[in-house]
Amino acid sequence: MIKPYTKARLYINMPLNEGKIITLASDQMHYLLHVLRLGVGAPIAVFNGVDGEYLATITEALKKRCSISIKVRLRPQIQCHDLWLLFAPVKKARLDFIAQKASELGVRVIWPVKTDFCQINRVNDDRLTANAIEAAEQTERLDIAEIKPFSSLLTALQHIENDRLLIWCDEASAGHPALNISAALTTAPPHEKAAVLIGPEGGFSDSERTHLQSRANCLKVSLGPRILRADTAAMSALSCYQSICGDWKN
Ligand code: SAM
Repeated sequence: MIKPYTKARLYINMPLNEGKIITLASDQMHYLLHVLRLGVGAPIAVFNGVDGEYLATITEALKKRCSISIKVRLRPQIQCHDLWLLFAPVKKARLDFIAQKASELGVRVIWPVKTDFCQINRVNDDRLTANAIEAAEQTERLDIAEIKPFSSLLTALQHIENDRLLIWCDEASAGHPALNISAALTTAPPHEKAAVLIGPEGGFSDSERTHLQSRANCLKVSLGPRILRADTAAMSALSCYQSICGDWKN
């Protein structure tokens, strides 16, 4: 089926099936009726991260209520490449940026981790999830990046399967041509799953380095000659991964 043009694409947190009528939450109603100025009959696309993407039309546009009717399925559900991002969180706006951009770049799991030199003690999971949803709506991806609860780096590493390639971006490798991320990924062992690890503003501690160095399936890489801020480093590493091993290859 040729995908019809729709001005809006909404994430709906409930099962979707043909013929279902859904009353929208007030923020979604505001977005459709007042920001986009859509009215009864307007087509929109909806998805829930599980059932694929559906065409829907607005069936009711009242002052305090907006309903949509689910029509045909446009696309079956697919998941993004099995790529995770583990990172030591930074302050608010840049944390939002990381969640949004990592979602745009097709990361399946976003995992904020507490490292020895991380200055942040709390992370608002709901806010990260809202960023991931907004990015999914914009980028036409069908799944929502999963936000793992903020946990210690060691806990997170214990949950990383042995066959998941861990791409450790180490600022101490900056400028070492032998560790250049592009070369490292081009010759990386074949793998189905990967995770990029980004440290905090203070970098990794000696004991974290020792732990990571002894880990199997861990690829220590440089992101070039300059020390990048954590958010720049994360997006650079994810872009390199997607172009060499991930879904930009196709
Ligand atoms: N304060 C640290 C220093 O000056 O050595 C810099 C930490 S950097 C702001 C934050 C994280 O980004 C690092 O822990 C690393 O994961 C990643 N990073 C930044 N630049 C990098 C580079 N050139 N190569 C590899 N990783 C880099």
